[in-house]
Amino acid sequence: MSEFEWIARYFAPLAMHGAALGLRDDAASLPGVPGCDIVISTDTLVAGVHFLGDETPGDIARKALRVNLSDLAAKGADPLGYFLNLSLPCETNENWVAGFAEGLRQDQAEFSLSLLGGDTTSTPGPLTISITALGTVPAGAMIHRNGAQAGDDIYVTGTLGDGAAGLDVARGVWRVAAQEAGSTFHVSRTTLLNRYRTPQPRLAVGLRLRGIAHAAMDISDGLAQDISHLCAASGVGAVVDAARIPRRNGVTLEQAVTGGDDYEILFTAPASAAVRMPEISEETGVSITRIGKIQPGREVVIHDAQGKSLHFAQPGWRHF
Ligand code: ADP
Ligand code: MG
Repeated sequence: MSEFEWIARYFAPLAMHGAALGLRDDAASLPGVPGCDIVISTDTLVAGVHFLGDETPGDIARKALRVNLSDLAAKGADPLGYFLNLSLPCETNENWVAGFAEGLRQDQAEFSLSLLGGDTTSTPGPLTISITALGTVPAGAMIHRNGAQAGDDIYVTGTLGDGAAGLDVARGVWRVAAQEAGSTFHVSRTTLLNRYRTPQPRLAVGLRLRGIAHAAMDISDGLAQDISHLCAASGVGAVVDAARIPRRNGVTLEQAVTGGDDYEILFTAPASAAVRMPEISEETGVSITRIGKIQPGREVVIHDAQGKSLHFAQPGWRHF
């Protein structure tokens, strides 16, 4: 089968939005949405770097889509569609493409978006998937990284470190850490593995943070590194209380602070917004935890219960 047949058989049925023109043209054509801004984000996944390569094609597809949806979530955007660029190793067969498309179909249904277009090539290198996701927000409502203000509370959704622990499970090297104080969520190997393989983009939370959060980003490369990026962009500092960082039983503080692949939302909001958090959490079924405060200056400190600042050899995932 040629890539043209794969596109017609497996990808065209996923291109439900009229803008995709059934994948029968050179480009998609999206009508402007009055009163809305389009939010656009792109992410690439490479076999051996972002996933191990032994996952099912459906799980690989879902992760590739979800990491992009996580960026939309952090911006308060409502998903609309996505472009899919595939570089497939020469030995890729139809079964694999069918499984991959099925994974996309499931997640398109779950998160209400459509394939809009893409490109398909062969590669002598590893499987590489690049997705560009589009979402909408009311004009001007995107939540930026650079809006944090001194005095804001700092929050995270969900539990941190699950991605790193799940990667250890996938690699077969996970050991349950001794139970520590502050680690209150019980967890199974399967839960952690699923958290690593198919993260949950926090779209419902993101929508409700419009007009409330001053700044937000998704945590993909470790809290320590990502909060430094948010603070640098905003020109502020932060103090994070390590004991408040939500993590499951058996997940270490180091994994929660420096591990990648969590895809939770990190955001800041004025103290007056604190009363809203329980209701947002209740409505979305996602926990929201206050972990610290934005401060004047540029310093980002994570301190322990004794007030001693913690240092980690590697603050987060880096490619180079
Ligand atoms: P070109 O010759 O310009 O590269 P293609 O033959 O690659 O054009 O693309 C034809 C159509 O198929 C376009 O609408 C394109 O968006 C779509 N397409 C190609 N590959 C993919 C893919 N992996 N996912 C979704 N759409 C695709
Ligand atoms: Mg092409």
